[in-house]
This record gives sequence, C-alpha cells and structure tokens, in this order.
Amino acid sequence: MEEARSILITYRGNMKGQRYMVDTGKREVHDLFNVKTNCQINDIMEDGGDRPFPSLISAHKAGYRDCIWCIGGSRRD
Ligand SMILES: [Zn+2]
Repeated sequence: MEEARSILITYRGNMKGQRYMVDTGKREVHDLFNVKTNCQINDIMEDGGDRPFPSLISAHKAGYRDCIWCIGGSRRD
C-alpha cells in the first residue's frame, strides 16, 4: 500500500506526477517516493508552497536543501 500512496501523492497539490517536490516556504526538497509523516506534505500543499522539480540536482542548484526525513539531509552545499 505504501507504493500506491506514493504514486497518488505525486498527483496532489501542484504536482503533476513528478518525484521531487520543493517547499518554497522552508526551501527544502522532498522525495515523494519516500515521503514520511514528518515531511508534513499535506500542510505544504494546503499552504500552496509545493512546486514540482524534475530532479534533485536541479533543486540543489536552485538553492533547496534536502529534507532530513525523506532524503537524509547529508548533502548541504
Ligand atoms: Zn521530506
């Protein structure tokens, strides 16, 4: 069921099936295929701060940090 939920979440809010979602408020990027409760994706989407990103690298280049829950937070440039 985890997989089905993950696929569904990529079509909510402003997402159109992309794997990576940035939170424009906290300036963090989330991996929707590995999303955790602590990511509080619902709150981000309710605030309208969710934006799709094509890749993790492009999100980093745009200045977003990795979410510590779904990505790990080990990469901080
Ligand atoms: Zn996250």
